[in-house]
Amino acid sequence: MSVDPNRPSAARIYDCYLGGHHNFAVDRALARRAIELVPAIPHIVGANRAFLRRAIRYALGRGVRQFLDIGSGIPTEGNVHEVARSIDPRARVVYVDIDPTAVVHARQILDGDPLTAVVQADLHQAGQILGDPQVKSLLDLTEPVCLLLVAMLHFVPDTPDLRAALRTYHDALAPGSLVAVSHATNAIKELTDLYSRTGLSVVMRDETELAELLEGWRPVEPGLVRSPRWHPEPDTDPAEDPAVFATLVGVAERT
Ligand code: SAM
Repeated sequence: MSVDPNRPSAARIYDCYLGGHHNFAVDRALARRAIELVPAIPHIVGANRAFLRRAIRYALGRGVRQFLDIGSGIPTEGNVHEVARSIDPRARVVYVDIDPTAVVHARQILDGDPLTAVVQADLHQAGQILGDPQVKSLLDLTEPVCLLLVAMLHFVPDTPDLRAALRTYHDALAPGSLVAVSHATNAIKELTDLYSRTGLSVVMRDETELAELLEGWRPVEPGLVRSPRWHPEPDTDPAEDPAVFATLVGVAERT
């Protein structure tokens, strides 16, 4: 994949939602149209980032301090290594994204950081990612790893190649490893047509379909749920806001 300023990219559109500056006019136009269709997008994205933070803290709480973040996106506030290191300075993070904009900016930010690495690759290239020299030198695959697939699987259609790749990650990671997922649902199905008209495929999945992709992983309590309901912060009441409820999330364990 190369940078094409005339075609929107999922990474750059998401950067627009987050108020970032690493995007082009085509991305901003699509993001504006998406927010017109689903005005709650900023809340949905905020809820997704909040889940990511809680999932990282959960993993560290279980003693898992290695993270493989696939579909990591363009760096923003509260990146995985920042959240993780605020709790455990030994945390190691490999960022992987298919999008060159995400990878270039991540490399700029992380240049010289010995506990992080950035790899440009497609989720489907599981063998290549796991065998990448940077991944091998940073992550000890004999110890548990937290695989992050956050707000990315809905860009990946269900194919035998996807199933095979997910099986490869499962089999390569040590027992006690975790996978954290968040995924768009039909509550925001308006976005499917909008994105697909520009060549970006989006696949909404329900709980059963997402659970099928996680075959072999055992969901931890409370299972796959709407994002505010997954290990809410103390003193917060999971809002009954239907917009925030647009995303299914969960963490599952490699047994
Ligand atoms: N994980 C971050 C988060 O939740 O804040 C970013 C999510 S962003 C919505 C989705 C990211 O997945 C984009 O950066 C996109 O480039 C990436 N992506 C989409 N398909 C991918 C694939 N097949 N392999 C790797 N990355 C992919």
